[in-house]
Amino acid sequence: MRPSKILILAGTRDGRLLSDQLSDVGHSVVTSYAGVTREPILPRGEIRTGGFGGVEALTEYLQHNQFTHVVDATHPFAVQMSSNAWTATAHLKLPLLRLGRLPWTAQEGDKWNVVDDMAAAAEQLDLNACVMVTTGRKNLEAIFARSDLTGLVRTIETPETAWPKGWRMVQDRPPYTLKQEILMMQSNGITQILCKNAGGPHTVAKIDAARELGLTVVMIKRPEKPQCDTVELVQDALQWLKTMGLESPVSHDSLGTSNKG
Ligand code: NAP
Repeated sequence: MRPSKILILAGTRDGRLLSDQLSDVGHSVVTSYAGVTREPILPRGEIRTGGFGGVEALTEYLQHNQFTHVVDATHPFAVQMSSNAWTATAHLKLPLLRLGRLPWTAQEGDKWNVVDDMAAAAEQLDLNACVMVTTGRKNLEAIFARSDLTGLVRTIETPETAWPKGWRMVQDRPPYTLKQEILMMQSNGITQILCKNAGGPHTVAKIDAARELGLTVVMIKRPEKPQCDTVELVQDALQWLKTMGLESPVSHDSLGTSNKG
């Protein structure tokens, strides 16, 4: 039987935490990044960076490197990578797990306008709104094309799009607290929020802040991903790997590398 080897397609905090936990107990893990974040917080263990070159190249990579398990811990909006992972693992008959948080659901007091994408969001934003945009640095053109809008865009990376008048950029990383988000909205005169339904606890404070301040949220709904086994929490991913035949890691003692006399 082949020794267990896990590919983790990263892009989320939980993916990194899972990599750390598996590496720390001696499992063979490779964590893969798209390479779009300039200074990602990297997990321990082996890292690879950059696209595989499409689904056939991914299939070849998995086979050539003798992976036994794949965990898709990409962001809920990273559709292409999840689709490629699904196709490649189905072809090779490898177990695939998606690790990801459930989407947020509207609570009493929330004023959400749910839309499909950024183009629809650009149409739905109020006339003359001062918008806090947290959808990432890409695909901002439709928003910036609305000359009546102003606001701030908060990203981890510097945006690729030219910076129009009336907009400011805030570079920061989650997690954010409710207090921080209320202050950010109030001090910038924000009247509306535009975000993706990322789910999870680390960026939810803006939704809570919008509810408290009575602001409308234009919420981009999640795209569909291929169906596969899915868990929300790192500990459940570890359990899933066990049930899918993940072998115990080879201990240092059994390799004769112990320092014991
Ligand atoms: P995407 O559209 O699903 O992927 C585009 C291409 O990027 C993939 O086909 C693949 O290239 C490469 N790629 C993506 N994730 C990869 C990974 N973990 N390892 C190696 N290659 C990867 O993804 P995206 O929406 O552009 O997002 C790119 C990355 O940023 C993802 O890892 C995602 O988790 C993270 N992210 C995305 C968002 C978002 O809102 N979309 C937010 C936060 C973080 P090849 O086809 O050449 O293999």
